[in-house]
Amino acid sequence: MRVYLDNNATTIVDPSVYTTMAPYFCEMYGNPNSLHEFGSETHPALRCAVDQIYAGIGADDNDDVVVTSCATESINWVIKGVYFDYIFNGDKNHVVTTEVEHPAVIQACKFLESLGVKVTYLPVNSDGVIELKTLENSLQDDTALVSIMWANNETGMIFPIEEIGKICKKRDILFHTDATQAIGKVPVDVIKAGVDYLSFSAHKFHGPKGVGGLYIKEGKVITSLLHGGEQMEGFRSGTLNTPGIVGMGKAMELAVENLDFEKNSVKKLRDRLEDELLKIPDTFVVGTKEQRTPNTILISVKGIEGEAMLWDLNKAGIAASTGSACASEALESNPVMEAIGAEADLAHTALRLSLSRFTTEEEIDYTIDAIQKAVKRLRAISSTFSYAPDWHESKL
Ligand code: PLP
Repeated sequence: MRVYLDNNATTIVDPSVYTTMAPYFCEMYGNPNSLHEFGSETHPALRCAVDQIYAGIGADDNDDVVVTSCATESINWVIKGVYFDYIFNGDKNHVVTTEVEHPAVIQACKFLESLGVKVTYLPVNSDGVIELKTLENSLQDDTALVSIMWANNETGMIFPIEEIGKICKKRDILFHTDATQAIGKVPVDVIKAGVDYLSFSAHKFHGPKGVGGLYIKEGKVITSLLHGGEQMEGFRSGTLNTPGIVGMGKAMELAVENLDFEKNSVKKLRDRLEDELLKIPDTFVVGTKEQRTPNTILISVKGIEGEAMLWDLNKAGIAASTGSACASEALESNPVMEAIGAEADLAHTALRLSLSRFTTEEEIDYTIDAIQKAVKRLRAISSTFSYAPDWHESKL
């Protein structure tokens, strides 16, 4: 049996998304900006996708949603764009984010630091979320931007976005949220949330890879980083990725349609998996069930190196993760576990299991059994670390 429980890394493309995209590869492949029919025949699908995307995040007609290549691009654009528009040319010089953001945010902020910008990385509590008081205390007269994720990729913990939006608005500070792990899992409404910028990636909600988006609230400035043919009303030049945009639109529509299914059915499966795993002695899960996205568990199985567990599960045909995808080939501790104050040896035991609307009951039963067996086997041997080199060699 093959079981895919790494949906926070990426998801299967929904078959109907794939079908919707298909004609735009070999039939209607014209450049949408061309003046002939090959170009113009792509317009209805592109318009439909734009409508689906606006509706999916609750954007107003006067707002802008610019299609990018991924959330990493959207995030870098906002953070560096704010630098150009509000810091370099203005009197602000401070950005606030958290210690548990995705590397795209952390590294873009480090880049700003190298340009002389002050950045505050807010600590999180033992559930992995920030305290609003800590945020309020961090804000300064020269704070230009607050960038705080909607939902965490490791723990699934949902941040108090509406409250953060209100705090930022009161202080006239720009607010960006990385909603990459929120779309398709919880309702996302940019107006209710009071965000100025919001980033997302289609492949996290059963859309194609290589396409994402950036929401920009009406009236908010953003310097373009890609200059050229003036596509996307000059926001982002480059020939439009027609199949990708069409696919992201369809995926967004389906994501919204399936929110109740996520909240009920996916959560029910996730909760059962979690309840069974917590029966294993010396295990704990970060964050409460209700405060998490319905599909995610970050579990620590004391004494078992996460990579060793991954190796056993991989042999059983189960895909999981120990941390963010880009770090999973290194024997590193889970960064979010570290941020919540877990001891180093515990932070090495993190195992992330992330479900999707395609996960079945049989797969969960199989996974429970496989993890119970792996724990028994790995706890019976003294050094779990000896497994990691094999794992890496096998991937070379
Ligand atoms: N933000 C979060 C919270 C993520 O989980 C990810 C991917 O794992 C990203 C940003 C980056 O997404 P992409 O790799 O599609 O650019």
